[in-house]
Amino acid sequence: MTNKLQNVGKYIAPAVFLCVLGGLMWYQSHQHHGYYNSGYRSVMGTFAQVTVAAASEEQAHSFITAAFAEMDKVNRIMNDWDPNSEISQLTQTAYPEPKVVSPELFEVIAASVEYSKLSEGAFDITVGPETQLWRQMQKTGQKPSPEALTTARAKVGYEKVTLNPAEKTVQFAVEGMKLDVGAIAKGYAVDIAMEAMRTQGAVAGMVDLGGNVRCFGPGPAGGNWYIGLRDPRHTEKTLIKLRLNEMAVATSGDYERYAVVDGQPQSHILNPKTSESVKELASVTIIAPTAMQADALSTAVSVLGKEKGLALIEKIPGVEAIVMTSAQPDQRIETPGAKQFIEMD
Ligand code: ADP
Ligand code: MG
Repeated sequence: MTNKLQNVGKYIAPAVFLCVLGGLMWYQSHQHHGYYNSGYRSVMGTFAQVTVAAASEEQAHSFITAAFAEMDKVNRIMNDWDPNSEISQLTQTAYPEPKVVSPELFEVIAASVEYSKLSEGAFDITVGPETQLWRQMQKTGQKPSPEALTTARAKVGYEKVTLNPAEKTVQFAVEGMKLDVGAIAKGYAVDIAMEAMRTQGAVAGMVDLGGNVRCFGPGPAGGNWYIGLRDPRHTEKTLIKLRLNEMAVATSGDYERYAVVDGQPQSHILNPKTSESVKELASVTIIAPTAMQADALSTAVSVLGKEKGLALIEKIPGVEAIVMTSAQPDQRIETPGAKQFIEMD
């Protein structure tokens, strides 16, 4: 965990890719109307903030506490930097025999396999052996050897995971497989944090975990929630404003986390089939009903690239995409349905 925090530390400013427009200003002037904001807290190697409508400060505090408890739980289960997390233990024990996992971990792994099928392997949480090599590369500035990459790739592939929903077991077909849920766990955490607040009686709120955002109920700005998208090449600038009610959004950007090899930035998003860092897209924003969908699909589209990625999103009802290419980062390309969410240019 410390390791990851240090890594991420350098990129904190750009990593907080989405910001809630005017959130704080509004909070100060309208606090008596009953929306409360937690401020940013460090969670899952990034920062989270929760906004919620409540009848009193005490009630807001209990909603916010419930939301953060869910995010902390997901971190305990799914943080692969922690050798004691459930996911790290699973990596060592799901071969050759099947291994029973928690309902939370099963849900995320099962959903991940579905996103792998949908994206024909562009999104794949079995990418773990390759992300291990990427992390080494980030430290050393040296590309892994072709032999190391070949060995890693032999342990990658969602079709090598067998799930048993009745028993909640996971089984690997190959020794040394390693799951990395870094591209979906934050979205899942946002969804269950929101659900926890609803269960406690909250009627409106927003959870933002490192740019994975989901809103429910009427927002503070005239019943709406607004989320700003940053310019991928000038991260201090807000490019567009999204109006998002009962929706989630996530962004994968090439400037958030990267390694540098021979002066060239290497994205932390990998094509699992080639082990190469993705290059074509500078930023991918997905608007979807759930934060888990938005998180997983933003990574999938980053790997698939503009043509195939947008074609995939167009096939999924209720999901929209806004992408910017590395070649022309000032040009926005979006699915037709994305326009309804864009408030201003
Ligand atoms: P972020 O965590 O910055 O929001 P993503 O949601 O795109 O970005 O997740 C990227 C992380 O997911 C990487 O750091 C790595 O751990 C993992 N990953 C990299 N490539 C893939 C892939 N093709 N499929 C699934 N997970 C991936
Ligand atoms: Mg993702």
